Amino acid sequence: MNIVILSRNPHLYSTKRLIEEGEKRGHEVEIIDPLKCDIIIEQEKPTIFYRDRYLDYVDAIIPRIGASVTFFGCAVVRQFEMMNVFTTVSSDAILRSRDKLRSFQRLSKAGIGMPKTVFTNYSRDVEEVLEHVGGPPVIIKLLEGTQGLGVVLAESKNAAKSVLEAFNGLQARALVQEYIKEAKGADLRALIVDGQVVGAMKRQGGEGEFRSNLHRGGSANLIRLSEDELKLAIKAARALKLPVCGVDMLQSSRGPLIMEVNSTPGLEGIEGATKKNIARAIITFIERNRK
Ligand code: ADP
Repeated sequence: MNIVILSRNPHLYSTKRLIEEGEKRGHEVEIIDPLKCDIIIEQEKPTIFYRDRYLDYVDAIIPRIGASVTFFGCAVVRQFEMMNVFTTVSSDAILRSRDKLRSFQRLSKAGIGMPKTVFTNYSRDVEEVLEHVGGPPVIIKLLEGTQGLGVVLAESKNAAKSVLEAFNGLQARALVQEYIKEAKGADLRALIVDGQVVGAMKRQGGEGEFRSNLHRGGSANLIRLSEDELKLAIKAARALKLPVCGVDMLQSSRGPLIMEVNSTPGLEGIEGATKKNIARAIITFIERNRK
């Protein structure tokens, strides 16, 4: 098969591992920078031009679209879909997952446990917003933040008010969320491939840090998920129509809660913690599903 990894950075661990495992299984694997693609739209013959050639020979794509290039990256994925090329995640699902509010709305409709969350178009009555989520401390997060940037723990009403005012002043939209204290600065990441959990780890934030993101200095350890955690992760991935994704959960006193579903999960932390070959699982998923 001709497999294309849509990525801006050929040097990333995840990209390198996907190439390695794809080639081991006898495929041609190439990295294409989505921003260097021209999308050509005409009656009945959608195509893509890249550097010096038409990408009309591609069998499957693995989108690894960074948050900063979501719009154009997803347009390229959509064009491949128009060309009947198999993709590990659809353009619509990537777009949906990038917007935390939109994802939470879907997850809540699907009956999935999550921290109670409020979205307000900035109300001056911060007190009322805080009451909805049980009062301070609360978590305030930017709708489109990644890697833990744009997530704030506001310990008091005044702190929450100032943060909301600051975000509002920057015209940045934010969610106010119940703070899950029992999680103690840790979260669970389940890696889903083909709708199944293929690996899981527990991430713990550094000393005094409530965020457990590895980019923020967190550490990762292998963990065995409980039955409830497994079910929740699979259900969340299904609700967002993401057959390949990373599902982040918090362990609360009322059971596991979904925090986020990531359509471009990094492979380094999870392969390191679990010693599992997740890149190969993604390649064999393509082999089983290509039309
Ligand atoms: P990002 O998408 O930027 O990674 P997250 O929503 O995953 O943002 O939040 C970053 C980190 O903050 C999480 O990994 C978790 O450790 C912590 N966190 C986020 N939301 C909550 C919450 N409601 N209660 C407790 N901790 C939280």
